[in-house]
Amino acid sequence: MPRETESPITRALLDWYDAHRRSLPWRDVGNPYATWVSEIMLQQTRVETVIPYYEHFMADYPDVMALAAAPEDEVLKHWEGLGYYSRARNLHRGAQQIAANGGELPRDAAGWREVCGVGDYTAGAIASIALGQRAAAVDGNVIRVITRLTGLRENAAVPSVRREIAARSEALMPPDRPGDFNQALMDLGATVCIPAAPRCESCPLASFCDAFAAGDAEDLPLLPGKNPPKEIEWDLVLIHMGDCVLVRQREERMLHGLWVFPMVEGHNETGELTVSLKNLAGLHVSDLQFIGEAKHVFTHQIWQMRLWRGTAAPETIPVDPWRAVTREELEALALPSAMRVPRRMAFGDERA
Ligand code: SF4
Repeated sequence: MPRETESPITRALLDWYDAHRRSLPWRDVGNPYATWVSEIMLQQTRVETVIPYYEHFMADYPDVMALAAAPEDEVLKHWEGLGYYSRARNLHRGAQQIAANGGELPRDAAGWREVCGVGDYTAGAIASIALGQRAAAVDGNVIRVITRLTGLRENAAVPSVRREIAARSEALMPPDRPGDFNQALMDLGATVCIPAAPRCESCPLASFCDAFAAGDAEDLPLLPGKNPPKEIEWDLVLIHMGDCVLVRQREERMLHGLWVFPMVEGHNETGELTVSLKNLAGLHVSDLQFIGEAKHVFTHQIWQMRLWRGTAAPETIPVDPWRAVTREELEALALPSAMRVPRRMAFGDERA
């Protein structure tokens, strides 16, 4: 479709994008692998945070075969601090899946949807941005812009409403610039059509926008019944064994494969702590001292942690998944962001 036949909404959006587009390292590279990596990193994570991680990751794993050949622990280490580690594991598995099939990247959205960890959004983003194909990529920003712009006042968490949002987005998408169109919607949602106090006065779509005219932009999208995060209390213990501190590799689904310090759920009301740790029946912890508190907010959970320090006989041999590590060994392990404060305090820094 030539530019003359584009909808005025599409034209206004693309003109705005051409004037305001952010310069980002994964843009305009025409490489589906690079788009894939960037889109996975950008899920739930701010652009400014992702940039250095993306550059480091691409320098060490410049193509899908390099990523497929890397050990999972090493990939997780590259992800340390980004959070949502299942993304890294799925990216790695996806690379191995592609490598096992000869190393050729999928050529359209349907092919990308077959790759481990790639859903409708990421498949649409890769197909439109890197392959120039007309495919919707509906993330939180796009949901917000499209529901407000087109006045869609239905529960946006419902799959049929999501499909309607994708259809309304595709109806506006120009065939010659689908990737720019999707990125323009994402950028507008990230910088102008923001959740609270949208900047309608500087929005290129204001004269077309249903919610702006109705005055209810801040109420959209409708997401009834959103669950508040669950608060969990922990006692976390830095157990010193000679020059080492005790850690374990998580086997649980959440933060699977990452390293944490010993943690016991639920604060003891007496203020005393009895250390009782799975698979460590023979470990006697003495000199327990309370050293501070730390909090970490996940999307679905808030961890309130009381921090303790104690000692155990250095000759005790921890069994899997426990390990006693030196300061240098601890530095080399992948720990989740929730462990940032206790990690800092493990060897010296007393500030919580
Ligand atoms: Fe969003 Fe306001 Fe622009 Fe409408 S006019 S798309 S509500 S920023």
